[in-house]
Amino acid sequence: MKTFALAGNPNCGKTTLFNALTGSTAHVGNWPGVTVDKREGIYKGGAEHVSIVDLPGIYSLSPYTPEEVISRNYILDGKPDGIINIIDATNLERNLYLTTQILETDVPVIVALNMMDEVEKSGDKIDVKTLEVELGVPVVAISALKGTGIKELMKRAAALTEREGKSVLSGAFDGKITEAKEFFAGAGISSPLFHAVKLLENDELELEHKGAKEAQARITAGEDMEAAIADERYKYISSHFSSSKQKGKREAVTKSDKIDKVLTHRVWAIPIFIVILFAIFHVTFSEDFLYIGAWASLGGGLPAVDKLGLSEGMETFVGIFYDGAVFSPGVILANAFNTLFEFIQGAVGEAISTEWLSGLVADGVLGGLFAVLGFLPQILMLFMWFSILEDSGYMARIAFVLDRIFRRFGLSGRSFMPMIMGFGCSVPAMVNTRTLADEKERIATVRVIPFFSCGAKLPILTAIAGGIVQFFGIGNADLITYGMYLLGICTAIICVLLMRNTSLKGETPPFIMDFPHTICRASKISCFTCGIRRSTS
Ligand code: GDP
Ligand code: MG
Repeated sequence: MKTFALAGNPNCGKTTLFNALTGSTAHVGNWPGVTVDKREGIYKGGAEHVSIVDLPGIYSLSPYTPEEVISRNYILDGKPDGIINIIDATNLERNLYLTTQILETDVPVIVALNMMDEVEKSGDKIDVKTLEVELGVPVVAISALKGTGIKELMKRAAALTEREGKSVLSGAFDGKITEAKEFFAGAGISSPLFHAVKLLENDELELEHKGAKEAQARITAGEDMEAAIADERYKYISSHFSSSKQKGKREAVTKSDKIDKVLTHRVWAIPIFIVILFAIFHVTFSEDFLYIGAWASLGGGLPAVDKLGLSEGMETFVGIFYDGAVFSPGVILANAFNTLFEFIQGAVGEAISTEWLSGLVADGVLGGLFAVLGFLPQILMLFMWFSILEDSGYMARIAFVLDRIFRRFGLSGRSFMPMIMGFGCSVPAMVNTRTLADEKERIATVRVIPFFSCGAKLPILTAIAGGIVQFFGIGNADLITYGMYLLGICTAIICVLLMRNTSLKGETPPFIMDFPHTICRASKISCFTCGIRRSTS
């Protein structure tokens, strides 16, 4: 039985295609030695049954992540009869980066141009024939979701024949590549072209081959060509394939790119983030939402709600929204709930005539329950804001910008979000650490979150600050409170440094995320899409 492997970027639709191909025959295991899913199944729709393997989603065949190593080893040594390289056609240029590397192996390849339904819907056109001629391998337009083109894809896959690796790199590297290729071919290693290019990229897995270190030193003379090669690939792709896709809605793409450039700007990214963060906390926690309280206090202040001369019912109602200043939506929500709770508590207390039972139920059980539930509206609201930032992709961008700074403390940019949420409330902050893939980093982050003073700690901090001012007769309560916030942050940083250097020692995992490709060029950050790893320190 022939075996075909599905390879492609994360989110290109591999699993969708895999399910469409294999249906109920699929089973999931693990790749040996790692907890990365290995899915296998059988396609029964063609003349012959064929076995299908779903490789982990990857952006390149570099040895930086377990997924990349697994896919690379499988493609090179797994002896598949062919690779079905799935490409997200709505993101052609980025997806082709991996394709240019797969093409360098000697393994038969067929390209499945997926998400063609999306492309058509947006009015774009992709010239499949041109793509096929350029790449030199069969290209079939499909929609894994709608199930179109799949039969033809498998028919042409079954007809794949042996091929020899082909590089898209320009003549500038020819001499060196040929030399390196001769070295690998001489050592009897298959796919010598692929290995040759990787050797020039200073790929650490290649250096494990016997004699490879010497060969590399001889051929490259110590020159680091990784970035140059990545650049070549990218240039090749943008010069050849920008034209094979005619954009219908060019507008929409450039607009999002423009927003991205601002949001990840080297200088503006962090100030913008601070403003957004402030807005979120203000909307959720401020008791002086419109600043009228602060303004009015210059001229004697606005009356408290009990000085307005309202009837008791009105006073309770107005008190939800106003007390010398207008509350923020988060505080209003919390007040509304707490008013409701007080009402229920009072009603239940009165309904039970036995005094001890009434006290037990109303004050004990309900009082305790409501004291905890009282925090819930604001916690949920904070959670909602952060979910919106997360889902819009903004959090990922800011985490990327901050990654460089956080790396110095042994954390990745991802751990920033939970920490900053810790200023609002530690509970959703800790829940949010689930986005951290590395366990040691996650534990370190969870442990220091309580040092970020949350909203509920504020009254205690101000009380202590007030106490210090009273008792010692020195200082300013606000400054002392602020100082305690800073002390918390410093303590957190020290603890992280301690943990990451002792009990939770470990490499900070590379931070990988899905980005429009324009960003890495604009921001000069490491890019796992184009494979350029810029030094983060
Ligand atoms: P994987 O990460 O490569 O396994 O990608 P998935 O199979 O999980 O697909 C990612 C997303 O793309 C899912 O939401 C799919 O429903 C969607 N998707 C996959 N194939 C197609 C397609 O042909 N057309 C459209 N419109 N969406 C697709
Ligand atoms: Mg998948």
